[in-house]
Amino acid sequence: GGGGGYTALGGLHVDSPDVAYGGDHITARYEYRSTAAAVDAETGRVTATPRSTVYHFRTGTRVRRTGLLQVGWGGANGSTLTGAIVASRSNLTWASRSQADHKPNYKGSLTQAATVRVGLDADGAAVTVPLRDVLPMGTPEALALGGWDISGASLADAADRAGVFEPDLRRQLRPLTDGMVPMRGAYDPAFIADNQAPRADHVMPAEWTKQQRLDALREDIVAFKAANDVEFVVVVWTANSERYAEERPGLNDTADALLAAIARDEAEVSPSTLYAVAAILEGCPFINGSPQNTLVAGAVDLAIRSGVAVVGDDFKSGQTKMKSVLVDYLIGCGVKVKTMVTYNHLGNNDMYQLTDGVMWKPKSAAKSRVIDDIVDGNGLLYPPGTARPDHVVVVKYVPFLGDSKRDVSEYTSETFMDAHYTSVMHNTCLDSALCAPLILDLALLAELLTRIDFTVGNAAPDADGAPYQPLHPVLSVLSFYMKIPRTPPGEPIVNSLARQRAAVENLLRATMYITEPIG
Ligand code: NAD
Repeated sequence: GGGGGYTALGGLHVDSPDVAYGGDHITARYEYRSTAAAVDAETGRVTATPRSTVYHFRTGTRVRRTGLLQVGWGGANGSTLTGAIVASRSNLTWASRSQADHKPNYKGSLTQAATVRVGLDADGAAVTVPLRDVLPMGTPEALALGGWDISGASLADAADRAGVFEPDLRRQLRPLTDGMVPMRGAYDPAFIADNQAPRADHVMPAEWTKQQRLDALREDIVAFKAANDVEFVVVVWTANSERYAEERPGLNDTADALLAAIARDEAEVSPSTLYAVAAILEGCPFINGSPQNTLVAGAVDLAIRSGVAVVGDDFKSGQTKMKSVLVDYLIGCGVKVKTMVTYNHLGNNDMYQLTDGVMWKPKSAAKSRVIDDIVDGNGLLYPPGTARPDHVVVVKYVPFLGDSKRDVSEYTSETFMDAHYTSVMHNTCLDSALCAPLILDLALLAELLTRIDFTVGNAAPDADGAPYQPLHPVLSVLSFYMKIPRTPPGEPIVNSLARQRAAVENLLRATMYITEPIG
C-alpha cells in the first residue's frame, strides 16, 4: 500500500446499486458525461455545454464456444498464432540460443497481457486487473482453430516455411499440428501477385463461378462449426494483400448489387470480398487484416442489414503503431512534425508479394494515412489548407531476413523559434510476433462485443424504456487494431493509439459501471 500499485488476479466484482449480476447477464446503468461544442461561424468562439447521457448496458455472461477461421491459415501469421495456442494447450517448453525453458505466452495481447486500472485500495495503492477479467471472455486455448489457404501445406509445414518459431518448438509442435490442413482457398490470380502462383496448389476449381465459390465457403463454415461443435465463428482475413477491386454503382455499392454481381460472376468481385460475404451470410464477424477494399460499400451494407460485425482495415502492428504514438506525442507537445520518412525491410512471403507494384498500392495508402486525425486536431500547427507533413514510406524485400522486420524512421520537426528537432528510431521484431496477438484479441473481443447490447435513456428496458440494441455492426471500438479504422457511416476516424486503447477500455469499464473514464 501507500502509493504504487499492483495487479489483483482473482477476478472483478462491482459493488454498486447500478450493477446487477443476473443469471446470464450483467446489467449496468452508466452515466456518460460528454461535452457538446458549438462553434460560432462568425467569431469562431466555442460554446462548450457539458451534458450527460444515461446508458444501460447488458452483457451476456455465457461465453460461446468459439471458432477462429483464418483466411491464409498457412501463412506466417496464421501458423504463428496456431502454434502458440497449441503449445499453450500442451504446456510445451522450448529452448532457444539464449534461454533453456521458454513457456508459451501471449505477450503483445491486450486481452491476455495488459491490465486495466480499477481504483485505489484502502492504502491508496492503485489496483489493476487483467483486461480479460473485466468481463467474461473466452480463452485462447478454448478457440477451435481452422481456416483456408491456397497452399495445401499442413500447419506443421507452414510453421517450418514461415521460420518464426525456434526449431526446438517446431519439432515439438509437428505431431500436434501435422494433421491441421487448411480448407482449399478461393484463388483468383487477377487479385494477387504472379509470384504467389507456385504456392497456389490447394484451390477451388478454376472453372467455378463466384457464386459456386461463395456457396462453397459458406458450406465450409457450416462444416467447421459442426465438426468442432462451436456455436460462434469469427473469420479473419490474414491472407496476402490483394490489389484494390473496382468500386462502382451497380457493382458493389449496395448489398443487393454485390450479391447480384456475385450471381452474374462479375470479374471485379475479389476473393477477399467473397470470404467476407460468406462470413456475413453465415452470421460470423469478419475482420479484414489487410489494406485492400474487401469491405466495399455493398459488403458493409450487407453487414449492417444482417446485424453482423465487421472490422477493418489492415492490422496496425509495427511501425505504423509506433508512428501513431510518436506523432501523437510530438504534435501533442506543440511540436510541428514536418517530415516522416520510414524504411521497412524484411524477407517474408507477404513482403515478397508486395514487391508487385499493384499489390503495394493499398498497403502504401494505408501506411500513409495513419496520422490524419492527429494532424487535423491541431489547427495551430496545421491551419486548414496548409501543408501536411511530408510522409514517405519505403519497403524493400530482403530474403535473408525472413520474418524479422527492420524499420528505420526519421522524423524532422520544427520546435521553438523554428529550431529543427530530428528523431531517428530503429525497430527489429518478428513481423508475425507483432501481428498474431492482434488476431487473437480481435477474435476474443469480437465474441465479447457481440454479447453486449445497450439502450440510451434514463428508463431501463425492464421499466418500459427503449429496448436493448446491439453495438453498431461496424465495430469502430476495435480501431486500436487497425491502420485505417472503419467507422459507422459519418463517424470520425481516430488514429491516436492512446485514444484507441482508451475506447476499448472505456467500453469495458462502462459495461461494469466503473465511473472514472480514462483518456
Ligand atoms: P503470408 O504470405 O505468410 O501468409 C498469407 C497466406 O495467405 C499464405 O499462406 C497464402 O498462401 C494465403 N493466401 C493468399 N491468398 C489466399 C486466398 N485467396 N485464400 C486463402 N489463402 C490465401 O503473410 P503474413 O505475413 O502471414 O501476413 C498476412 C497478412 O497480414 C498480409 O496481408 C499482411 O499484409 C497482413 N498484415 C500483416 C502484418 C504483420 O505481420 N505485422 C501487419 C499488417 C497487416
